[in-house]
Amino acid sequence: MTHTSQVLIIGSGLGALATALRLTAHGFRDILIVEKADTPGGRLNILEQDGFRFDTGPSFFSMSYEFDELFQSCQVPNPLTYRPLDPLYTVYLAGHSRPFRIFRDLKRLEKEFEGLESGLSSKMQRWLDNAGAIFHDTEHRVVKRDFDTLPAYLWALAGVPWKHAPRMFMSMWKDLENHFSSEEARVIFSLVSFFLGNTPFDTPAVYKLLSYTEFVHDGYWSVEGSMYDIVNKIVGLLKERGVRFEFRTEIAEPIVENGRLKGFRSTDGRRFEAEICVSNSDAAAFRGLVMGRRRWHTKRLDRMEWTLAPFTMYVGLNRKLHGLNHHNYFLGSNFRQYADTIFKSSVAPEKPYYYVNIPSKSDPSCAPEGCENLFFLCPVPDLRFKPDWSDAEALGEAILSDFESRVGQPVREHVVTKTIWSPKTWEQKFNLYRGSGLGLAHGLNQIGGFRPAIRDEEFDNLFYVGASTRPGTGLPMVVISSRLAAGHIVENFQPSSKLSEKSFVNL
Ligand SMILES: Cc1cc2nc3c(=O)[nH]c(=O)nc-3n(C[C@H](O)[C@H](O)[C@H](O)COP(=O)(O)OP(=O)(O)OC[C@H]3O[C@@H](n4cnc5c(N)ncnc54)[C@H](O)[C@@H]3O)c2cc1C
Repeated sequence: MTHTSQVLIIGSGLGALATALRLTAHGFRDILIVEKADTPGGRLNILEQDGFRFDTGPSFFSMSYEFDELFQSCQVPNPLTYRPLDPLYTVYLAGHSRPFRIFRDLKRLEKEFEGLESGLSSKMQRWLDNAGAIFHDTEHRVVKRDFDTLPAYLWALAGVPWKHAPRMFMSMWKDLENHFSSEEARVIFSLVSFFLGNTPFDTPAVYKLLSYTEFVHDGYWSVEGSMYDIVNKIVGLLKERGVRFEFRTEIAEPIVENGRLKGFRSTDGRRFEAEICVSNSDAAAFRGLVMGRRRWHTKRLDRMEWTLAPFTMYVGLNRKLHGLNHHNYFLGSNFRQYADTIFKSSVAPEKPYYYVNIPSKSDPSCAPEGCENLFFLCPVPDLRFKPDWSDAEALGEAILSDFESRVGQPVREHVVTKTIWSPKTWEQKFNLYRGSGLGLAHGLNQIGGFRPAIRDEEFDNLFYVGASTRPGTGLPMVVISSRLAAGHIVENFQPSSKLSEKSFVNL
């Protein structure tokens, strides 16, 4: 069986959906999205069970204006209602009797560190001034751009003020040591590195610009109702505009005729022919595993740096928990040793560090009355280091037991529903390479011109969008990626005329 469309998009993660929306605004309507899973959204997905609703992955985002830009540029009112996070999050450090609430207001923040870090607000201000300078000096020059060649990237990089160069080669942790004297402040302000899927010991200090985005620039936001509203709303708009979806369809290999990419074949043998193809599958792994490129062979993929793998647990409780916020981190007392060893270890951590999100604290509709829904995320080694997850239940139990003792309230006897996704589950569900949660890591050799490109090296009608291509991982970055990918397509292709004339009427 052959399916034809003008544009074929492989995968339905945020990058794919945002690219499709942008293309419809430019008159492209004959778009087919094929997705391996049975729901759209990729990592930004939803799990509903026993009256509880869980967002599977992302629980908040920065740079909300990237979503505003997406909808504005597609001439639709923004259908999402954002909710600001304040405090940004709460951190439970082992050995401390009270949690640290991380406020954007530096005077309030200083109170949280009383007796531990003197003059915190002025130290923080210096940290943030420097982080802000890095953000604004790189945002338009390198971060939000695509590069046709490596020299073009290096040239753009050379235009970044040289005063930032030392922080490209210094670790975030070292920079924090230079700014803050207490271990507590260093550990807490280093947590942003985990949003890039790495530890502060192997994240370049330039990424302190993330601290600027959280504290000063735009803060953190979640979506009223559910993060999955992002997917629901975009899919609704796409369907109104005639975009078609084909679920439970995995793309296996390219169809190349006379040196030209004609489309792709799915694992069940169907042909998908298109003038333009976009892959939202991991941009590095797809080149190796589907396109069969030797340069991206498994051996090379395995030598690349990948972000940490997620161990996630979705738990429904038939009780309310007191004293917790929407976003909470639970950390032990051996941060350095934990970060140094756990991510390359073949065993699950005995005393895990983890993040807990409790959406029912701000949106009662996601759990039955009097109940609480909990999302646990524990960063763990990817499948290269720990391929066997037969001990997933035991790690889940260790997390619940630690959580129970840290919050001082019975938890385990109140569990009425529980689902665990190990890195193996994440790999199988969404083709995440080796179960890596955020895709390729963001070391200097894997960003900008060194990151897998948006335009394919061989075929001029194949493009990539998503976390492992440019600029990088996380929801706002993926939205930027869709702008870059759609930009290349619009520059080089025309919408098939009959459909586009009809479609513009509906805009
Ligand atoms: C546990 C977790 C928590 C996170 N938390 C946050 C957060 O709080 N804030 C934030 O900003 N970011 C967060 N992220 C990162 C964010 O989810 C990702 O950066 C973003 O969703 C990636 O989008 P994407 O466009 O790359 O597509 P993906 O989500 O990777 O989707 C790609 C889609 O393509 C499909 N696919 C792959 N290969 C094929 C194939 N061969 N054929 C057909 N279909 C295929 C997959 O099934 C998938 O649906 C989190 C990620 C995880 C895993």
